Amino acid sequence: MGETKNLSFGGPVSDWRLRCALISSGVVVDWLHYLGEEASRVANRIEMLDHDNNCHADVHLAVVVSRPPDDAFSHYPNLKAVCSLGAGVEKVVGCPSLPAEVHVVRVVDARQAWMMSGFVARHAINHQRGFASYQAQQRKHIWQRRPQRGADNVPIGILGYGEIGRRVAADLTHLGFPVGCWSRSPKTISGPVRSHHGSAGLAAMLEETEVLVNLLPLTSETRGILNTHVFGKMRRGGYLIQVGRGEHLVEADLLEALKSGQLAGAALDVFATEPLPPIHPFWEHPKITITPHDASDVSAHAVATMLVETAEAIHAGERPPHAINRSRSY
Ligand code: NAP
Repeated sequence: MGETKNLSFGGPVSDWRLRCALISSGVVVDWLHYLGEEASRVANRIEMLDHDNNCHADVHLAVVVSRPPDDAFSHYPNLKAVCSLGAGVEKVVGCPSLPAEVHVVRVVDARQAWMMSGFVARHAINHQRGFASYQAQQRKHIWQRRPQRGADNVPIGILGYGEIGRRVAADLTHLGFPVGCWSRSPKTISGPVRSHHGSAGLAAMLEETEVLVNLLPLTSETRGILNTHVFGKMRRGGYLIQVGRGEHLVEADLLEALKSGQLAGAALDVFATEPLPPIHPFWEHPKITITPHDASDVSAHAVATMLVETAEAIHAGERPPHAINRSRSY
């Protein structure tokens, strides 16, 4: 095993600590810097070790920063849980060496949902009010008002009504948008958000959607879901806010929908290839707004909480909080 990250500086001496493999796949992680004030809380329960190519029977926990090598988990025969440093877990569950019985744990972070909500609201309002045309007018020194559309005339459909989708939906309704949500299982929602599920539910929601927000996890069922068929069911002149995963989007279908006018524009935060290659057509497209997978980050506090709670659950022989359902892959 590689270097031990001694995080226990100045902290209390704990009665037990779990050995945790840090699988960073070449990404340099400065844990002390990243965790900041949370470092001693984590060090109290976790001894962080760099992943290497030896076998380590004393490691029960792993934390994954970016896509793990295919054989990553074969080095830890007594692994109980893998923590993913983010809301999405597709890179972990897709790793061929991950045993079926190992828990996969994701970050749940109220602050991340709140940051995402602001990101989505910004793009939704931009579309509703047509602010892009004012930017174009400014460049030409044109003073000309546009008719104002109320948010109540711009229905929003959200794919995914999970930890983040729920917060986004609630905040958009407060801004006056009619909001529908689509999930796998039926929901009973008190308040104005309209719930849909299953394929019939998706069609019903899209028929009354002008702005489509993608907040789905990436699974075999959701890969490629943002396609011509889905765009074609939306209101003409609609808008896409893509904050799920790049592989949800069929890129050629988006370009075609923008060309035909079925979509008026798109805000893209995630891409099949990240960083987006310099020659990619999205960069120069006048109807596409790009951000570098930065819609909403997890906080160090939430990461520390996930690590500590997972270590304590494993130590107690329990299921970690926020372990995903392995049969659904999210
Ligand atoms: P979550 O709590 O796991 O919620 C996922 C939602 O998607 C649930 O409502 C689920 O339905 C629904 N869903 C899953 N598969 C479905 C299917 N086949 N058909 C219909 N609905 C389906 O996830 P979250 O924390 O809200 O995060 C969602 C995603 O956002 C993440 O996986 C990640 O891809 C993305 N994200 C992006 C950023 C960024 O910066 N761009 C940041 C954070 C997260 P049920 O409720 O019925 O289970």
